[in-house]
Order: sequence, then C-alpha cells, then structure tokens
Amino acid sequence: MNHRLSFWLLASFLLGGCGQQLHQSNRIQWPTMGTIASVRCSTPEDAEAAKRYCETIFQRQETIFSVWDGSSELSQLNLTAGTGAATACSKDLSHVLVKAMTLCQESEGAFNPLIGPALRIWGFNGASPVHQQPGNEEIADALRLADWRQLHTIQSSTNSVSVQIPLQGMKLDLGAIAKGYAVDQAYATLKSAGCSNLLINLGGNLRAIGESGKDNGGWWTGIRDPFGKRQVFARFLLRDGEAVATSGNYERFVTIQGRRYAHIIDGRTGIPVRGMAGTSVVAPSAELADGLSTTLFILGVEKGTEFLTRYHPECRAIWIPDTGKETDYAIAGNWQPNQLEILDKP
Ligand code: ADP
Ligand code: MG
Repeated sequence: MNHRLSFWLLASFLLGGCGQQLHQSNRIQWPTMGTIASVRCSTPEDAEAAKRYCETIFQRQETIFSVWDGSSELSQLNLTAGTGAATACSKDLSHVLVKAMTLCQESEGAFNPLIGPALRIWGFNGASPVHQQPGNEEIADALRLADWRQLHTIQSSTNSVSVQIPLQGMKLDLGAIAKGYAVDQAYATLKSAGCSNLLINLGGNLRAIGESGKDNGGWWTGIRDPFGKRQVFARFLLRDGEAVATSGNYERFVTIQGRRYAHIIDGRTGIPVRGMAGTSVVAPSAELADGLSTTLFILGVEKGTEFLTRYHPECRAIWIPDTGKETDYAIAGNWQPNQLEILDKP
C-alpha cells in the first residue's frame, strides 16, 4: 500500500466516519482515484447499491483526469502542448477546465491549473525525488510554464471547449478540483436513482444527501486535527446537498534537506505554501468546495476571507494555521452556531 493510500484510509475514517466503526455494515469504503472512497447509507443494501454506482463513476473520471495514467484524456491533452493543435475536450474535462480557469482568474493565478511543471520541480506527480530546493531559475522556468494568461479555452459546442496549450512543457493538473467534480457526478446519479439518505466521501471530498437519521437535519461530520492531538478538531452539520472539502499540509508532502514542503504550491510564486496546516470549505457543490479549499489554503485567512466575501459568499471556510495550536483557527462565511462545534478538549 502506498503512503498516500494508507493516509487516506485514516483520513476517510476520520472525516466520514467521525469516530464510528470502520467496518460498519452501512458504510463501505474502497480504493479508487489514488485515494479512498466511502459511502454511508441507512442500510447495508443501500450502501452496496450506492457503492456500485460510485465505483463506475469514479473509474470513468480517472480515465479523464489522471496525470499518472498516460492514456487519460488529460495526459493526452498535455502531450499537445506547444504543437499548435487545438483539442476539443470531452464534456467532463471541458466543464472542470472552465471552472478551474474561473478560480484561476478570480484568484489571479494563486489557484492555477497549469501548476504541473511547478509540482514536478518540487518532486511531486511522479518526478524523481528532489534533494535540494529548486533554484530561482528552475522556479522561474516553471512559472513561465504556468502562465495561465496564455491559455485560452474556446467554446466549440454547447458542452465542449477546445484548448490549445501554447508552450511546450506546459502541463495542466486538475488534482485540486477533479475529485470534487467526481463526487458531484456520483451525487447527481444517486439522487436520480432515488437515493434519499447518503454521505459520499472521496478522499476528503464529501457531499450529503438527506440526513443520517430521522430529524438529524443532515450529517454530522468531522475535520481532522492536523496536529494529531485528537482525532477530530471540529464537527459540523452538512445539510442536504451541501459539500465539504479539506486541503492539508499533512497528507502529501516531500522532505528536502529536513524541511517539509506540502503539495499545494502558490501558483504566483511556484513555491509550496507554508504556514497553513489545513483549510476546509463548505459549498453547494463538491467541485466548488474542492477548488476553494485549495485556493483558500493558498490565500490564507485575510486574503481568503476577502476572496470568499467577494466571489463566493454562499460558502463558508475554516483555516487552521500551522502554529501547532488548533485554537488559532479562523472562520469565514455564515456558519450557524448550532452547526459548528469546535472540540477544544484533547
Ligand atoms: P487533495 O488532492 O489532497 O485532496 P487538494 O484538493 O488541495 O488536496 O489538491 C491538491 C492538489 O492540487 C495537488 O496535489 C496538485 O495536484 C494540485 N495543486 C497544487 N497547487 C495548486 C495550485 N496552485 N493550483 C491548482 N492546483 C494545485
Ligand atoms: Mg481542492
């Protein structure tokens, strides 16, 4: 089992299970899309059926968005970089690409789907291990290849955009948003299949249908304590249709000369974000929650609060700065007091 998978076995237990048994019969989990997925339902039969739906959907999403699989649609698109070719993308890729570019423009490149080369110089996404911090030139090169202002998407039909990746070496990476989109696909399919109470979790991207039990008002779910002092730092109520995503510095990181660097890179500087342990965002869709959790992780509390108020006032966020003290947390958006519970006792 790889490191990432073993992490998510723990994380999905904490985020989705919130202190309950791992092998509950109405909760099923399985590995997919480089992470762990789970579904929780009212009955074991519902959970089995929901898993079957989700499995098919997530497998299909992987064939589109994986940057590890050279035959995925995204990998094939990346091969066209610098060739002058304009490629018509599938409905799914088009949709996610447009959303990613919107977040990129709103955040002026902090969130940047062209982050691929910058990830690689720090040793992520299958690059060889890095033994010293990349130099200024290497970072400048990666930033040149992350110049999102040069990337244009052209609507080629109702549901499809064409993309021309202008420079050789540019690489799109949609890892910050694709899992959220996959959860939304599962959510829509399960809803139209008549599923009325369910919590879907794909590697920390959760979306709720209905409620966990009669009159519960939704699903109580937990945010992991990034400092490991307790299992869960906060609990909150995820209401019907809502989604939550968490970005953290404790899950995927590299160690260079004894210093840890997280897998979230500021698209404006090409340098991994420091000073933030975790950011969670509740949003009306899992795709938005996923994209925003990464964006707000990068922007931090002050700029992130301004960003949220300006562009996404319907969402709410929690930041846990990397100070070693969870009590330094900050929140933004319209959290209702009876829907958020910070657990301050270890
Ligand atoms: P996870 O994938 O662990 O759930 P996130 O949703 O925060 O966490 O996504 C992190 C991933 O986002 C990274 O592994 C990388 O693929 C991608 N990424 C890193 N930095 C950026 C950035 N500035 N803009 C867009 N995507 C990024
Ligand atoms: Mg994300």
